[in-house]
Amino acid sequence: MGSIADNLERLHEQIAKAAQRADRKPSEIELIAVSKRQPIEKIREAVDAGHDLFGENRVNELQNKVGMLPSHCRWHMIGRLQSNKVGKVIPIAEQIHSVDCLELAQRIDRLAKEAGRFPKIYLQVNIAGDIAKSGFSPDALNQSMEDLFKLHQIEIVGLMTIPSYDPEPEASRIHFANLRKLAQSLGEEYNMPGLKLSMGMSGDYEVAIEEGSHCVRVGTALFGERSS
Ligand SMILES: *Cc1c(COP(=O)(O)O)cnc(C)c1O
Repeated sequence: MGSIADNLERLHEQIAKAAQRADRKPSEIELIAVSKRQPIEKIREAVDAGHDLFGENRVNELQNKVGMLPSHCRWHMIGRLQSNKVGKVIPIAEQIHSVDCLELAQRIDRLAKEAGRFPKIYLQVNIAGDIAKSGFSPDALNQSMEDLFKLHQIEIVGLMTIPSYDPEPEASRIHFANLRKLAQSLGEEYNMPGLKLSMGMSGDYEVAIEEGSHCVRVGTALFGERSS
């Protein structure tokens, strides 16, 4: 594996190529550097190479890292969020990608109001109906939309999904395409054009971009293996 700067450059190239294959603009696609369980030195290397957007999946780790890195860095919460940790995340995470049920959205809305914040959220969808994954089922999401619209202190920016791991990137394609179709149909039904898609990780981000992803969450392909 090359240096972090080299990896970043290569990732941006691959992202641009995947975008071009799908007739899309590379600038529509955001790269979240997933820094969970990576040493702070490696994250600093990414910052030094000009990257400033990071994703974490644990609240305590997120809090620690925010304190150790420059204040221009932006942080997204991408992992399962317990309701008792919501209050800690709101002041530091610009976006939350893992809003997996209505109750969590309601709690974020309420605490955001108290904190005077206006977080952007992605609704996590269990698009493959995988029993091991959290997230709204497409039906549950449809049934929750009316209640979600009552929440004025959050901004729903899109849908997120995590297909179960498969060494073959093409295995994720159908799930990414299904998330895109779900976003399209919700967009039409509820007049929410422009719902974004947070999908694609180290193994399958190029497929995700071909299927319409606006936000890829890449950890190991940038930083190398994580510590356990
Ligand atoms: C860990 C994680 C990633 C990054 O996984 P890699 O395979 O290392 O790229 C992306 N999204 C979520 C939600 C994660 O927890």
